[in-house]
Amino acid sequence: MAEQESLEFGKADFVLLDCVTMEDFMANLKLRFEKGRIYTYIGEVVVSVNPYTQMELYGKAVIENYRGRELYERPPHLYAIADAAYKAMKRRAKDTCIVISGESGAGKTEASKYIMQYIAAITNPNQRAEVERVKNVLLKSNCVLESFGNAKTNRNDNSSRFGKYMDINFDFKGDPTGGHINNYLLEKSRVLKQYQGERNFHSFYQLILGAPDQLLSTLHVCKDPALYQFTMEGATSNSLTNDKSNFKAVVDAMQVIGFSQEEIGSIHRILAAILHLGNMSFVEDGDTAEIEDKDLIYYIAELTSTEPDCLLRTLLHRTVATGGGDVIEKGHNVKDASYARDAFAKAIYERLFCWIVGRINNVIEVKNYDARIHGKNTVIGVLDIYGFEIFENNSFEQFCINYCNEKLQQLFIELILRQEQEEYQREGIEWQQIEYFNNQIIVDLVEQPHKGVIAILDEACLTVGDVTDIMFLDSMNMKLCTHPHYTSRKLKPIDKSMAFNRDFRIRHYAGDVTYSVEGFIDKNKDTLFQDFKRLMYNSADPVLRDMWPEGKLSITEVTRRPLTAATLFKNSMVALVENLACKEPYYVRCIKPNEVKSPVLFDDERCRHQVEYLGLLENVRVRRAGFAYRQPYDRFLLRYKMTCEYTWPNHLMATDRDATKAIIDQHGFQDDVAYGLTKVFIRTPQTLFTLEYERAQL
Ligand code: ADP
Ligand code: MG
Repeated sequence: MAEQESLEFGKADFVLLDCVTMEDFMANLKLRFEKGRIYTYIGEVVVSVNPYTQMELYGKAVIENYRGRELYERPPHLYAIADAAYKAMKRRAKDTCIVISGESGAGKTEASKYIMQYIAAITNPNQRAEVERVKNVLLKSNCVLESFGNAKTNRNDNSSRFGKYMDINFDFKGDPTGGHINNYLLEKSRVLKQYQGERNFHSFYQLILGAPDQLLSTLHVCKDPALYQFTMEGATSNSLTNDKSNFKAVVDAMQVIGFSQEEIGSIHRILAAILHLGNMSFVEDGDTAEIEDKDLIYYIAELTSTEPDCLLRTLLHRTVATGGGDVIEKGHNVKDASYARDAFAKAIYERLFCWIVGRINNVIEVKNYDARIHGKNTVIGVLDIYGFEIFENNSFEQFCINYCNEKLQQLFIELILRQEQEEYQREGIEWQQIEYFNNQIIVDLVEQPHKGVIAILDEACLTVGDVTDIMFLDSMNMKLCTHPHYTSRKLKPIDKSMAFNRDFRIRHYAGDVTYSVEGFIDKNKDTLFQDFKRLMYNSADPVLRDMWPEGKLSITEVTRRPLTAATLFKNSMVALVENLACKEPYYVRCIKPNEVKSPVLFDDERCRHQVEYLGLLENVRVRRAGFAYRQPYDRFLLRYKMTCEYTWPNHLMATDRDATKAIIDQHGFQDDVAYGLTKVFIRTPQTLFTLEYERAQL
């Protein structure tokens, strides 16, 4: 519980509410937001409301104010959580993680940056050069990743279109020695098309509007995003981002990180090649397709260091292995050629993004050799991943994102709610069971082998012949119709002119979402013809080549079907959750106060909904029913035995439990404490605070 501020700012910890009702919770949240108190605790969880205005909360002086303090000594802040995670890591050698959740625009990415800045600011007092280098790379990596992975959407001008988990490694001194970034599911369909008012990834506009004229001319790119199919939509939407100066900032950041001039050149050429690909259109020539504007072939070939002939052939044909082991070339019609071009454009961008992440990892990864020298190696992980999404049209991407949120909610329940309750039971401490919704049933609906949505989708994708989205929907409707969280929405058309309704609905923990099946099969298969991979692998540009290792296989050598997009995503989620589950978690729950980016508007309805599905009220109840601090008896004694005459220097009692009781009784804390089998449980942090104080006085 944070240092008590004046009550006019509301309660700094929801645990201190007089009664835990939704009304009281919302009133406190609103009051604090209106008073500029954007952070509030639930025990050790930070609830943050996006202020949509620059706050005087993040300077050097504020950092100093939080440094090394206990959580409850200062007003709630991200810095306090960052410090708690850091202390747990340093004092107790615990791997910790900070999980930041909330919907798009709620302030997750900003929070993750403040947390990293805090950690950077409080470490490396001795200014060791190697540590400074690592810190610099970690901080600069944000700028580069945001350029390539963020875009303006209708919800957020700088929306992350990928999930990010960053591990920071620390040596025994508590200084960062390295790190590793994992990225999840980039929304690559954005390369091709954006909703009205939205933009493509920032990187394209930065290149077009920010690159020096001479560079643009070598790339054959004009200084006008309206001239390119892929950036046309965003060209008219006014953006707050300053593309021109950001171009330079990103190049600078890449240089600091250690990208070579050649690599940066390749990245720009790849971006330009994608822009040209977008402008390529096909015309019918007999049965097959022809390219309308031949110049584009020369530009793209030049930019990708490939032969124009080969590029042309790849765009217009595909090689197919016949049964007898022969290979034949099949010409595309216009539709297939357009499809292949789009798949190619998306794939190049996605690989570019992954390559950039890999390149950053390369320079900060803790090598085995380093680890041996530095000895102990502990980790703080920071997770900034897309929040729950309910749009007007929900497709495969929203399905994956919402599944990810189900997994994270599962982890939250597992770690915060269930573990807490189970520990009390195990320790034989009396307390009241809190009811909460366990969303395991929805996780199963999505990921169960054979019966789950992903399994049914994969089965449909593996079926030979033309399987349609509707067939996939039929299959789901048949297998899942009795599931309480699945609703078939396939309505028979009333007359022939109407199409079938192509929806299904999942009752997520955060609300009902109706998904359109259109495109599920296609996006899940995520087909890119081997010809393109070979073309890229044979490029004379080493960077490009590096991105396509499987391109060395010929069509007859490609035997195994690649894993589907949904299965790859599922596997990455399972691995992520496993990784987080073995760390000590800290949570930041971000709330978006309104839809219009206003610093003064608190939309009650919207906020209440977020509080509901984030399970914050249950969180408060569990926390209140419970005890803020607990420690095994021996650890407690070790720390506080000097504060009591009966226990210093050593106690003569029968058990550590009795000795602990002696300390507690001497201070008069008996009403605030419960004694478990192996641990002492303390209800309010003030008790611990007093003990700490007395200890320090001696
Ligand atoms: P998310 O990652 O959850 O989608 P962001 O972190 O990108 O959301 O935040 C969206 C926008 O809200 C930011 O671009 C910024 O303008 C504003 N914002 C978020 N957090 C803060 C903050 N702590 N202080 C000031 N503005 C903020
Ligand atoms: Mg974000």
